[in-house]
Amino acid sequence: CGIVGFVGKEIKIEDLITGLKKLEYRGYDSAGIAYNNGSKIEIEKKEGKIEVLEQHLHEIMKKDIKSGLAHTRWATHGAVSDINSHPHSGQKDEIAIVHNGIIENYQELKDELQKSGVKFKSETDTEVIAQVLEREYNGDLFDTVRKAVKLFEGAYAIGVMHKDDPNTIIAARKGSPMVIANNGKVSILASDVTPILKYSRKVVFLDDGEIVRLKPDGYKIYNLENEEIQKEIIDITWDE
Ligand code: GLU
Repeated sequence: CGIVGFVGKEIKIEDLITGLKKLEYRGYDSAGIAYNNGSKIEIEKKEGKIEVLEQHLHEIMKKDIKSGLAHTRWATHGAVSDINSHPHSGQKDEIAIVHNGIIENYQELKDELQKSGVKFKSETDTEVIAQVLEREYNGDLFDTVRKAVKLFEGAYAIGVMHKDDPNTIIAARKGSPMVIANNGKVSILASDVTPILKYSRKVVFLDDGEIVRLKPDGYKIYNLENEEIQKEIIDITWDE
C-alpha cells in the first residue's frame, strides 16, 4: 500500500518511520522496515499500527543506516500477520523487497520455485518477487531486477536492496505509483510525494516499464531494454 525508502548519508531508522507516517492516511494493516548498514539486511515488521512497529524499534530509532525500505501493507494475498508483512526476503536473506500491488501469476512462479527446493516463509504473492530475485541474482542488482520484472504479471511498485550493496536501491513500477528524488546527499523513493518533500521538492514520477538505480549522489532511470531515459523533473510548490 505505502512505500518509502532512502539511500544516502545521515539517514536514521526514525526517518523511515516518519516517512511511513506520511502515508498513513491511505489505510493499512501492518508495517515494516528493512535496513542495511554494512553487509547484512535486518528486517523488522509488525501487524497493526505504525506505533506498534515504532515501539518495537524504540532502542534503534536513532541508529544510522546506509539504506532502508519501509512499507505499510494492505493485505491482498495472505492473512494479516507479522510474517506476511513487508519487507520480504529470499530464503538466503540476501535480498529484501517492498511491494505495492498484486502479482497475478504468483502461484505459478511459487510452484516452480518450490519444486526447485525453495522454502517459502509467507503466504504472500510478494514473496515470489524476493525469491525470484534471489534465485536470479547475478552480482548486479539493477540488471537482475531489470530482467526479472519481465516474469511478473499484474501490478507492482517495488523497492529492492541487496545485502552486499548497501549504497544502492532499485525501484521499478508497473501499474502502481512510484516517485523519486535526490538532494545531493540522499535518494528517496516513495509511493507518493508526501514523504519526499522534507528532503526535496524536485521529484520524478516514474511511468510503467521504468526502472531506477538510486545511489546517495543521484539516480538513473532506464526502460526495460536498458536504455537510459531523461525524465521531466517536477517542482512541487504546494505545502505539505
Ligand atoms: N499483494 C501484497 C500483499 O498482500 C501487497 C499489498 C499492498 O499493496 O500493500 O502483501
